[in-house]
Amino acid sequence: MRVWSLGSGSSGNALVVECAGHRVLIDCGFGPRAIAKRLQTVGIAPESIEALLVTHEHVDHAQGVARAQHKWRWPVIGTGGTLDAIGEIPTRWRREIVPGASLESEGFVIDAYAIPHDAAAPAAFRLTARATGERVGIAHDLGRVPESVHSAFTGLEVLCVEANHDREMLRHGRYPPRLQERITGGRGHLSNVETLEWLRATARASTREVVLLHLSAENNTPTLAERTLREGLKSTAFRGSVQAAPRSTPTPVAGFNTPRSLSVQLGLGI
Ligand SMILES: [Zn+2]
Ligand SMILES: [Zn+2]
Repeated sequence: MRVWSLGSGSSGNALVVECAGHRVLIDCGFGPRAIAKRLQTVGIAPESIEALLVTHEHVDHAQGVARAQHKWRWPVIGTGGTLDAIGEIPTRWRREIVPGASLESEGFVIDAYAIPHDAAAPAAFRLTARATGERVGIAHDLGRVPESVHSAFTGLEVLCVEANHDREMLRHGRYPPRLQERITGGRGHLSNVETLEWLRATARASTREVVLLHLSAENNTPTLAERTLREGLKSTAFRGSVQAAPRSTPTPVAGFNTPRSLSVQLGLGI
């Protein structure tokens, strides 16, 4: 199983998960031309995507969904509330997923879980590759971690989870109090420490890679998020790698035995 991030954060989100030649796109926070270019950067043809999963309708996750679906005829998988909020997806391409239930694409079994965030019906997804049984959990934009997500993500081989902000940077930064409250509230976003607390119980010896998503450009840095998680996970059974998905550069983030991820696994600290 391999994962690419095509962009992560408030200016646009998209991930590709691939196993045994099957590929799905998770979120399309870029217009069709931009997503095609980002896919091309990592050597993926849009025509090779078998389905588009959408976590929620916010523009940084969904602004390109309807146009890209129209262009490439991708089936679009999301909760009913998310698909209704996006609109413009022809009925024959709508694949509604009910939180707590599964849906299958050619290559993956997809489970959805309701998460608290200020959108219509936001969801986290767990994908199980039908060819290998490998599992990846993807949770973008959530104010807290519900028990269902906590247990569904425990011990997964790959965890792609939000680490939005550092509490101190947010508290002392430029955001007005009302916006700070929205971010830290139960329907906002997870901080580095909240994500760490979650993963201390969820990442296990079987977890190979943790990918940190949706870092705030204003209130976080990749170095700070990675360090917080790596340090905090040292006392657990987890021995995998931790990597923050870059904000705008399309990048392989899991399933690639890069020297960097190897060095992190070996504790070389480079
Ligand atoms: Zn959102
Ligand atoms: Zn977002």
